Amino acid sequence: MPELPEVETVRRGLEPAMDGACFAKVDVHRGDLRWPLPNDFKARLQGKTVTGLGRRAKYLLADLSSGDVLLMHLGMSGSFHVFREEGDKKLARYYHEREKHAAHDHVVFHMSSGAIVTFNDPRRFGSMKVVPRAKLDAEPLLARLGPEPLGNAFDAAMLAAACKGNKTSLKAALSDQRVVAGLGNIYVCEALHRALLSPKRIAATIASKSGAPNERAERLVDGIKAVLSDAIEAGGSSLRDHKRPDGDLGYFQHHFRVYDREGERCVTPRCPGIVKRMVQNGRSTFSCPVCQS
Ligand SMILES: [Zn+2]
Repeated sequence: MPELPEVETVRRGLEPAMDGACFAKVDVHRGDLRWPLPNDFKARLQGKTVTGLGRRAKYLLADLSSGDVLLMHLGMSGSFHVFREEGDKKLARYYHEREKHAAHDHVVFHMSSGAIVTFNDPRRFGSMKVVPRAKLDAEPLLARLGPEPLGNAFDAAMLAAACKGNKTSLKAALSDQRVVAGLGNIYVCEALHRALLSPKRIAATIASKSGAPNERAERLVDGIKAVLSDAIEAGGSSLRDHKRPDGDLGYFQHHFRVYDREGERCVTPRCPGIVKRMVQNGRSTFSCPVCQS
């Protein structure tokens, strides 16, 4: 499932095709995505210009000249592909590709820029929704999301306050979208390793009783920001490499320090540890039992 860095990379990949361009025509081949597309979906997009393409957690938000916002979520298997002209060689494909068949191109945007943007999603857990900008704050999909981890407001004090009195593990706390938005299994494991904190550590131990941050909270926020920034940078390089026809964007696996590295040597300098896998809340957690405590 895509996490924040992958979604940000998709946003950057779509921006040149969509930002400032108008939806000349919208084709819906299948409207039964995770939720059915609204009946007025095409009408609310066609003829409208994209005035900005943003991101909130794992949602892409296209601001439209009509005052609406198009919300898009990749779900488990969604991908966007950008073509320059119908039948033309694909310019780029954004997001991991499990199925190349055009039968899964459920939504097609013909942009006034000349670009054709297709949304392909074999498992149809992805979603699209059109919401008036004025009602975005009340949108249920976004309302309960915690702070944006790369935003300036997200710091040790904010994370500590969210973990104050929280008796769950740090792994569970960081996976909770209300504590911090957009992190999933992979980047939680990676951030905890960078912060040298055990995924089993009780979340409340990064804060004092009053909720003030300690040095662990500082390390953890630094770890989260660093791992996401590095992944987005790696995604940016893979976008630039998209001149290659086989360029495929997925997770930037060569950068993982613990995720999916069970049995391998820990990469922390001078640490003799071996990466271990355990199961927490039904998900695999990878960590080093020596340097993470
Ligand atoms: Zn280690």
